[in-house]
Amino acid sequence: MGAFEELMAWARQTRALAQVAGRLAWDQETMMPRGAAEQRAEEAGAMEAVLHARRSDPRVGAWLEAAEAADPGPEARAQLRLIRHEHDRVRRVPGDLAAELARLTSRAQGIWAAARAEDDFAAFAPVLEEVVARKREEGAALADGGDAYDALLDGFEPGMTAAELDRIFGEMRPRLKRLRERALGHGDAAPLRGAFDTQAQLELARELAGRFGYDFARGRIDLAVHPFSAGAGDDVRITTRVSAEDPFNCLYSTIHETGHAAYEQGIAPAYRMTPVGQGVSMGVHESQSRLYENQLGRSRGFCHWLYGRMRAVFGDLGVADEEAFYATVNRLHRGYIRTEADEVQYNLHVMLRYDLERQLIAGDLEVADLEAAWNAWFAEDFGYPVDRAANGVLQDVHWSVGLFGYFPTYALGNVYAGCLHAAMRAELGELDAQLAAGDPSAATGWLRRHVQQHGGLYPPRELVTRACGGAPGAGPLLDYLDEKFGALYPG
Ligand code: ZN
Repeated sequence: MGAFEELMAWARQTRALAQVAGRLAWDQETMMPRGAAEQRAEEAGAMEAVLHARRSDPRVGAWLEAAEAADPGPEARAQLRLIRHEHDRVRRVPGDLAAELARLTSRAQGIWAAARAEDDFAAFAPVLEEVVARKREEGAALADGGDAYDALLDGFEPGMTAAELDRIFGEMRPRLKRLRERALGHGDAAPLRGAFDTQAQLELARELAGRFGYDFARGRIDLAVHPFSAGAGDDVRITTRVSAEDPFNCLYSTIHETGHAAYEQGIAPAYRMTPVGQGVSMGVHESQSRLYENQLGRSRGFCHWLYGRMRAVFGDLGVADEEAFYATVNRLHRGYIRTEADEVQYNLHVMLRYDLERQLIAGDLEVADLEAAWNAWFAEDFGYPVDRAANGVLQDVHWSVGLFGYFPTYALGNVYAGCLHAAMRAELGELDAQLAAGDPSAATGWLRRHVQQHGGLYPPRELVTRACGGAPGAGPLLDYLDEKFGALYPG
């Protein structure tokens, strides 16, 4: 066997084991008996140790060098690019720092959850300080002389830099703030009123997933506290949740997760179980889920169909007519929580976290000053003060588990979605008639052809540029938001 074949055999088996570990994590969130938590931690730890040993296998570097020297063609080059990317990252971080981070963040997550329940940032600050200190070290090790934050970001969005994000976000912030100020001046649109049968919600959620192209023969939907999608290739599962008062929570988080799952299910079968056979970055992943959820799922056309379908399922929805329904689906409202934010304000939440975490990693901000910095920034961008830490600096789990450089990919996903949506509309023309018939397949088919089937074949920026016929920027997203919310909130 040549070096490339040996490397690919190693990569396939590593990937298979990672899938098994991922299924353990899925099980923990959906099916696992309550009493099994401690045993599961041991099982997950054992899998992690096996995976770590494989990833730091000393033979990988030699295989890579030999295979790269042979230059075996474009698809193989993409496989090598992805293996090289991960190999260099694993190699640069000292083993004891990686182990220390794993121990520290598993402890920090518990402390964060307790601190959030008590609304007490001071209880979380000491362990977060340790996490930030270790992440600075990790970033410096990964950066190898370059910028530490860029190096952390590169783990989630290969090739992206903070300088590029600054340019994109700098264009977004003023226009989003103008839009939110104008919209909130109109007063809140009413939410739905009533109690909505949860079994009927789940049935409708399954129907929606199917309409958006989810393949149930290679997936399943279960309940979990936080919706997520997990897996790859022939086994991609999604979870959702139900609330009797708020059926949109279940329905739209299902469409969102269907976007993630459709990406994984849509990758060309030839790439299955290889490095190319998975979504290429967090930003591109989020572009699929957000486009399914927002540009398609919350469009006027699809809302027409959903209004009729929901009335058939639930009876009276407590809204006057279809126009009021559309306004309710797209309502802007004051709030503190990122995950509950509308299309306009969501990105402001993300940018706030991005700026703070960048300063933390650079050493320009210390954890002791983080809560005050958060509150000042929030008041500036949202126009009202944070009322308590659980609604502010303690609301997200990410920093406690060491995810620095992850937040900006949420907003980047929206930026990519804006570009892809504009390119799709330019090519396909009017989609509203199909969406109004409850049929997004023309749109999802376009995404499958231009984005999903490629998996990791192209780096993220190249993938989006090829699909859109130009480099990604914030313009298309901002124009779409201005048009949509300008019509909803005229003035
Ligand atoms: Zn998502």
